Amino acid sequence: MDLYSGYINKLIEELAALPGIGSKSAQRLAFHLISLPEGKVSRLANAMVSAKQNVRYCRECFTLTDSDICPICADTRRDHGTIMVVENARDLAAYEKTGKYKGVYHVLHGAISPMLGIGPHDIKLKELMERLSGTQEIAEVIIATNSSLEGETTAMYISKLIKPTKIRVTRIASGVPVGGDLEYIDEVTLLRALEGRVEL
Ligand code: ZN
Repeated sequence: MDLYSGYINKLIEELAALPGIGSKSAQRLAFHLISLPEGKVSRLANAMVSAKQNVRYCRECFTLTDSDICPICADTRRDHGTIMVVENARDLAAYEKTGKYKGVYHVLHGAISPMLGIGPHDIKLKELMERLSGTQEIAEVIIATNSSLEGETTAMYISKLIKPTKIRVTRIASGVPVGGDLEYIDEVTLLRALEGRVEL
């Protein structure tokens, strides 16, 4: 016999499928949602649907944005000759928070992981190479993937791809703790990693 109604079970099931939410948290969230006034629940549901419908990849850097081109790529005061390659939009946000980086970004949306079956074609790598070959103005590509095994593998792979183009390729310094997710690292450490970057 089911403990809960079919509707609650369905809600718990959907919530439990989200990253980082186990079945206990899913139950707690489900009962919390049901206890809320209907207007609040509608706002949450609408926010999810609108975000999904309206958020897209920036045509240039592939970060998530509401428009064809993101505010960073559209900003003419930024240095468009320096591209920082990051794994995801959260890493981009971490570097933006430092307020010190003036270049632009390229968001890979993942990292190469043979263990998980994620290859170069599963991330926005082809798009990066197309971007580099489309212009003469790129002076440097800074690889700021995480210092995890996947991040390092990706960094090596990218540097090998870019080397023949003669564009300068650098890697952020390993002041970033091994296996550390960029978004959890404080701004000082991020800046030190950026300033201490090394040639690849
Ligand atoms: Zn962009």
